[in-house]
Amino acid sequence: MDTNVEKAKKPRRCPKCGSTQVAKIIYGKKPPKKQKGELTVYGGPTIPVNAPNYKCLKCNSTYKHIN
Ligand SMILES: [Zn+2]
Repeated sequence: MDTNVEKAKKPRRCPKCGSTQVAKIIYGKKPPKKQKGELTVYGGPTIPVNAPNYKCLKCNSTYKHIN
């Protein structure tokens, strides 16, 4: 059983292409430092309205994942 909250929040697969290379989009003034074990991409300094929070690294589609 997977009880890790962070993993549970993250979509396991891209809904479009099925890839598991799904990165969390980080917004902020500075690009985030690379975190071990987690794929992240820098989304920019400001958070747009209805900002996507995940990006597929395979097909480059972004989407919002809501629990
Ligand atoms: Zn994809």
